[in-house]
Amino acid sequence: MGNSAKQKIVIATANLHKLSEIIRILDYPGLSVLSLRDFPDISGVEETGKSFHENALLKARPVYQRTGLITLADDSGLEVDALGGAPGIYSARFAGRSRDYDANNQKLLAELKLVPHEQRGAQFRCVVAIVSDLNEQVVEGIVRGHIIKEPRGEGGFGYDPLFVPDGFKRTYAELGVEIKNRISHRAIAFRKAAEVLKNLSTKKYSGGFE
Ligand code: IMP
Repeated sequence: MGNSAKQKIVIATANLHKLSEIIRILDYPGLSVLSLRDFPDISGVEETGKSFHENALLKARPVYQRTGLITLADDSGLEVDALGGAPGIYSARFAGRSRDYDANNQKLLAELKLVPHEQRGAQFRCVVAIVSDLNEQVVEGIVRGHIIKEPRGEGGFGYDPLFVPDGFKRTYAELGVEIKNRISHRAIAFRKAAEVLKNLSTKKYSGGFE
């Protein structure tokens, strides 16, 4: 399939960690994945929504309107059982400053200091909005696991050194990109998003990407 026949999509994220994961997950031959780096004039939006769902749509819509290309945006975060689902949509700015990953991790450990192992359940959630001229669709991926007592591992970003997914002994940060990108909340959500894209292109061009 030549380049011209590829389906072009834009990933509306300014977070390079997320972007590099998403590009690997969406490694389909018929897809050409662009990002906000290809559209430097488009600035990010404020995440004022009350849910992952709302925020994902808030991020995707303006980029679709400016580019006219199918746009995907990810809003994601960590939901900790013992904290009633916090930090949730506030995951990036849990400790105040946006994306200060160390401070966020320290705050999380401090809040769970007295919480025993069996009550340290948590989940990562990733919600992806897909906005096109046909419609707006939203899919999600959830991975359950637990929060350990000290950070372990060098890979990944954010809360990765503190999160052990169910069925594994190592943290997301210890598992490394390859395994993380196979099993993560983001992998589950973007694989569902890829199905949505296939259906969209089938409807539009009665073709579709492989
Ligand atoms: P967003 O950019 O508003 O969606 O914020 C996502 C925040 O959730 C990140 O800054 C991280 O703190 C956290 N987060 C989301 N996905 C992951 C992940 O895969 N690993 C670790 N932290 C994550």
